Order: sequence, then structure tokens, then C-alpha cells
Amino acid sequence: MRNDSKMYQDLDRILVTREEIARKVQELGEKITRDYEGRSPVLICILKGACVFFTDLVRAIDLPLTMDFMAISSYGSATKTTGVVRVLKDLDQPILGQDVIVVEDIVDTGVTLNYLRQILIQRGASSLKIAALLDKPARRKIKDLKVDYVCFDIPDAFVVGYGLDYDQRYRNLPDIGVLSPAIYEKP
Ligand code: 5GP
Repeated sequence: MRNDSKMYQDLDRILVTREEIARKVQELGEKITRDYEGRSPVLICILKGACVFFTDLVRAIDLPLTMDFMAISSYGSATKTTGVVRVLKDLDQPILGQDVIVVEDIVDTGVTLNYLRQILIQRGASSLKIAALLDKPARRKIKDLKVDYVCFDIPDAFVVGYGLDYDQRYRNLPDIGVLSPAIYEKP
């Protein structure tokens, strides 16, 4: 998609370009390949926001990995977290004794990942790491949440694109941009 497409008019600015994303995701894939040498981790995609990042990341990892998918809700269509996390779709396979890498779109307050980490550890994963495309460290509420792999730290702004949505839209933008507040402040 060209970045003069109509959807881009709803952005205040582009924060991370598709080229920057591609470079970082490749680097992260290579790092995970080194860190997990000789192992077969299961990568868990947190739907829907992480789906674009996930499909690029798994192709940058040269390991006999497996994939699973989980859908949770934390936001609805608002732009602020509610702190309420619900599992909408659970994993298909048990993770007992597995090396798990949770792949998430963005860590904001940390409430969602903290909850997920707890339930996945209870299920007996032998190790658990978190890979996030974006991190908003300024907004963290769960101070001791360890995010093992992060592609980009970003400022406190509501972003869309590369899987991230506002009201289910903009996920297919190839770049990541700050959504113009006029879009979500409409009456
Ligand atoms: P947390 O529980 O860390 O506060 O929120 C994590 C979830 O909130 C993310 O998985 C994502 O769905 C949503 N979220 C947080 N910040 C943003 C943002 O800037 N843009 C979008 N589209 N979603 C966000």
C-alpha cells in the first residue's frame, strides 16, 4: 500500500516506517534464533493486534518452532485500557514443559501481559519470554513486568497500523502512525 492512501489522512504523523519495522523484526528474529539455539519454542500470537508482526517475526526465526494463537480483550473500541482482561479464544495445544514466547503488539500499562504471564506460567511452561513490537514505558502500571524483547519504545500516543487498530480499522496500514485525535474524539 502506498503511504498516500486515503487511510493515511487519519494519521497525525507516521511514527515508525515499514522499512524501520522490517529491519527491526529481522534483527529480533535473528536474536531469538541465537537465544533458542537447539530448542523448539512455541510462539503464541496474541490476536488480533499482533498478527501482522507475528507473521513477519516467525519467518525471521530459523528454528523448528510451533505456533499457537490466543485472543484476549482488553480495550473494546476505546483508546484507554480498562484493566479487564478476558480470554476470547484459548490455545489449541497444552504448553506444559514448553519454551513459550508470547508475541504481543504493544505493552502499555502492562495489565494484559501480566495477566497472560500468570496464566501461562500456571499451565507449566518451562520458560516464558515476551516479545513486543512496541513499548510505551511511560504508561507502565505493572512495574516489575519484564518484557524480554522489544522492537521500538514509543511515546505516550495512541498508535495504529501494522496490526494495531482503532475500532477494528487501520490494521492493514504497513507503517505505524499516531492516530489523529479528531478521529476518536468525534461525537
Ligand atoms: P495494557 O494492558 O498493556 O495497558 O494494554 C495492552 C493492549 O492495549 C495492547 O495489546 C493493545 O491492544 C492495546 N493498546 C495499548 N496502547 C495502544 C495503542 O496506542 N494503540 C492501539 N491500537 N492499541 C493499544
